[in-house]
Amino acid sequence: MRALIFEAFGGPLSVRDLPAPDPATDGVVVEVAASGICRSDWHGWQGHDPDVVLPHVPGHELAGTVAAVGHGVRRWRVGDRVTVPFVNACGRCAQCAAGEHQVCPNQTQPGFTHWGSLAQFVALDAADVNLVALPDELSMSTAATLGCRYATAFRAVVQVAGVRPGEWVAVHGCGGVGLSAVQIAVAAGARVVAVDVAAGALELARRFGAAATVHGDDDVPAAVADLTGGGAHVSLDTLGAALTCTNSVRSLRPRGRHVQVGLLPPAQGRPEVPMERVIALELALLGSHGMAAHAYPELLGLVADGRLRPQELVTREIGLDDAGAALAGMGAEPGITVVTAFG
Ligand SMILES: [Zn+2]
Ligand SMILES: [Zn+2]
Repeated sequence: MRALIFEAFGGPLSVRDLPAPDPATDGVVVEVAASGICRSDWHGWQGHDPDVVLPHVPGHELAGTVAAVGHGVRRWRVGDRVTVPFVNACGRCAQCAAGEHQVCPNQTQPGFTHWGSLAQFVALDAADVNLVALPDELSMSTAATLGCRYATAFRAVVQVAGVRPGEWVAVHGCGGVGLSAVQIAVAAGARVVAVDVAAGALELARRFGAAATVHGDDDVPAAVADLTGGGAHVSLDTLGAALTCTNSVRSLRPRGRHVQVGLLPPAQGRPEVPMERVIALELALLGSHGMAAHAYPELLGLVADGRLRPQELVTREIGLDDAGAALAGMGAEPGITVVTAFG
């Protein structure tokens, strides 16, 4: 199979012919039709993720067709159109029994714990637990956004933060997951303040319904407080950086909820969290880590109704030969880049 591979952290990203994977007993192999390029892939390439072992094939935001099925799989057949959350849960532990697959301690992640989907084929474990069937009308490139960024934003805004109509929501970082959060929060009836350092990203945030935008180089907490009459009800760090995390917590009004969505690898420094403010204002600090496969029907229903439009997040479709440059240049282009040609 053709696949994007790197042999050193931060080293060259090249497309090579590699052996295609075999399915595990409880797993499948999917022929990849679309695979998004995400900041998490960039972190893996940089060596920020201890799960990544060299040489490595990145990619975890995928949609495709089942090409091979392990003997123990009951629910899936060759030819099924599927996507998968980037957290592949075991289906057998206490967290999984409680429905909290996104924090399964035995999880695998394509593109991190094993080779990923910036390749013609990818192996996925515990297929009966993790695969999500795609409606025929959903395109593969749109479906790829549901494997990580769009679903992660949906869970953060709707299920973790519990955003209510009329609330102010601040979104710090308008990359793929941030813009997804803007669109989802607006659909939930919230008023959104979008924060970024790139004019193109802020323009997209306004197009997706943000009521106001703030440049990330400004005094962000003060600007959010001005715009919202005292601070946001909900604030999300969708970038994952020391400054955006701290700004997010400082952007909240009393009783506000901060949700950490962007990854914060300690190698990039730890954020300073103003705990005195957390106490005095009774703030809630929440984490959000993907979304379990069983939670997808609500999201897919809102997409089918046209109330959520993840297809608008996909601003660029490229071939695998251009994936390395896109990964290395993460953040240079607004919106989500998806690889849709692998041959
Ligand atoms: Zn991702
Ligand atoms: Zn589990």
